[in-house]
Amino acid sequence: MAEILKLQCSICHREYAPDEVQYTCIDCGEVGTLDVLYDYEALRASVSRDRLESSNDHTLWRYRELLPLGSRAVITPLSVGMTPVYAAPRLAAELGVARAWVKDDGRNPTGSLKDRASALVVARAMEAGVKTVSTASTGNAAAALAGISASVGMAPVIFVPASAPEAKIAQLLVYGAKVVLIEGTYDQAFDLCFTICQQKGWYCRNTGINPFTVEGKKTVAFELAEQLGWQIPDVVVVSVGDGNIIAGVHKGFVDLLQLGWISRIPRLIGVQAVGSSPLVRAWKDGISARDMQPVNAETIADSISAGVPRDRAKALRAVRQTDGAFVDVTDDQILQAIPVVAQLTGVFAEPAAAAAFAGVKVAIERDFIQQSEQVAILLTGNGLKDIRRAQQSVGKPVRSAPDVESVLRALSQ
Ligand SMILES: *Cc1c(COP(=O)(O)O)cnc(C)c1O
Ligand SMILES: [Zn+2]
Repeated sequence: MAEILKLQCSICHREYAPDEVQYTCIDCGEVGTLDVLYDYEALRASVSRDRLESSNDHTLWRYRELLPLGSRAVITPLSVGMTPVYAAPRLAAELGVARAWVKDDGRNPTGSLKDRASALVVARAMEAGVKTVSTASTGNAAAALAGISASVGMAPVIFVPASAPEAKIAQLLVYGAKVVLIEGTYDQAFDLCFTICQQKGWYCRNTGINPFTVEGKKTVAFELAEQLGWQIPDVVVVSVGDGNIIAGVHKGFVDLLQLGWISRIPRLIGVQAVGSSPLVRAWKDGISARDMQPVNAETIADSISAGVPRDRAKALRAVRQTDGAFVDVTDDQILQAIPVVAQLTGVFAEPAAAAAFAGVKVAIERDFIQQSEQVAILLTGNGLKDIRRAQQSVGKPVRSAPDVESVLRALSQ
């Protein structure tokens, strides 16, 4: 129940009263995504690590005092957040780093980290009496909005590129969402969604444009810090499409630093697919968010395919301010990472999530991570989301006639 102090443009720093603007900065337009800021001094007096640790709420709502909701807000019922963090010694050995952890956000109710954003956005929509929420998505944000909405009896309108994996589209329909398959790119679906939301008076959850998705996603950093006993790893690695997750991770650590609950922020490393890597390029070439040009995004990791990263300003800032890096990985490296992560940790990750592990390898090669360091990897989505790519990442099982001798022969091959 944190009261919002102000909204501030991530580009020009213009400040707005909490209800002065709904989406992005009036001066900067869409690139000027807004930060939600609080009165940290007041928060320091009213919340404490000890109180938090004694909470028996094992969802993201355990952090409600650090989230932008009114005191009478109805919180959504699905169990989002507090996903497990696993120590991954075999993965650390494979990578050649001191320690590694994976946080399995595929354990969220609809199978990805996006549930964190949708839970908060839907809770705010209900608080404001909004009837229809809408989003464009490559799949997971849509599934999250559809599932969280279903849990409170709402039916969202969702714009999906027609190329999204079928399992993801089925998930939306099962939850009762109204789905429009756009015969075009994610970027086109995104713009259409925003335009139609404004015409219809729907609340737009679109990543980046909506300042509250980051506030939901920041809880993943809160959890990581709390679950590791407030001992912050050297590096946190996350895959990046629009840049909203890495922005959320950054915001979470910034909030904790402001509260005095942690003493430093880890370096943040963002991983993009080679075929969708405008942030890698901008970071290397020192290009500002405002000057970035759209690219034609193409990667098998549909969840990180974004030609115009909508939260590019905050994503670049997250990496630049924390002395982190952006790296890119090929689709082959992503595919190979799926079974490796699964076999070294037991966590089955979708391509976009496994990309983070592939990115750690590249970051080590490029000297962005040292052997003495501790690395946390966010696994952002569940492997069951995209079985077709998972099948491509492994061989075929052995076949056998249904008798003992044949089975033993098949097993010895
Ligand atoms: C959305 C998503 C990402 C990337 O998040 P952005 O905010 O678009 O950078 C990574 N992995 C998975 C599984 C996702 O669904
Ligand atoms: Zn601005």
